[in-house]
Amino acid sequence: MEIARRNLVRWFSGRRLVRAEADDTRIFRGAERRHFEELSGRLESLVRRGKYLLFAFEGGRGLMGHLGMTGKFVRRTEGQVEPHSRARFHLDDGHVIHFSDPRMFGRMEPAPAPLLRTLDPVGLLGRDPLADGLTAGQLAEAVGSSRQPLKVALMDQERLAGLGNIHAAEALFRAGLHPSREPGSLTPAEWKRLVQAIRATIDFGLKEQEGEEPVYLEEGRSENPFLVYGRAGGPCSQCGTPVESFTQGGRTTHFCPKCQPRSGVHASKPRAGKR
Ligand SMILES: [Zn+2]
Repeated sequence: MEIARRNLVRWFSGRRLVRAEADDTRIFRGAERRHFEELSGRLESLVRRGKYLLFAFEGGRGLMGHLGMTGKFVRRTEGQVEPHSRARFHLDDGHVIHFSDPRMFGRMEPAPAPLLRTLDPVGLLGRDPLADGLTAGQLAEAVGSSRQPLKVALMDQERLAGLGNIHAAEALFRAGLHPSREPGSLTPAEWKRLVQAIRATIDFGLKEQEGEEPVYLEEGRSENPFLVYGRAGGPCSQCGTPVESFTQGGRTTHFCPKCQPRSGVHASKPRAGKR
């Protein structure tokens, strides 16, 4: 999402939106497509809240966008065909920015710019580590009271915005924390390790995805750029122990049983019967 935001800011920079148009598809959910087609002029700001993009155009019109599972923004020249294009911004430099979404899980919701931050669910989102900054204390406050397993709590967008399944798995590996730890059991030193790991994971993700086109991890892609995600059965990059996986909160979690011990104390034996 952050890469999409940066690309859009660059593409809109110094340009004017001369025409917005969209097909009548379900990406608008309950919102009015004609309000999307009223967007025009300069893009005054584009902020990201979690996985949502908030566009504010001159004149006070705005748009909340979500890429869903398969959506992306791509820039083409006028007349070029973009498969799965659902909505388009025509710029005054001859470029067209398409919202392309094969499966239409994405969402476009036009609304007055001043109201964007109050729309459901943006108004409910927790702190965004990249957009808002995050200290160990803020992380402990946001996540520490959760009764969910640590990884599930990290992905709860109302506690912390913008951390997905891959980010959460990678951050826990970097921090040496088991995904099933109880958030309330973390020590101040562990929160500090975790906040540093979240920052490192986000930085790595941004570097990995820089460029004109977003990069998605696909099953079977030859080189897996992640430390632990998608490596089940293979050796841990740090200690060689086979990486394990299990399902947690409906998502697959990958972890190293040696680097991320259940007990929270490295190299200690798991306590029998304790979950
Ligand atoms: Zn390991």
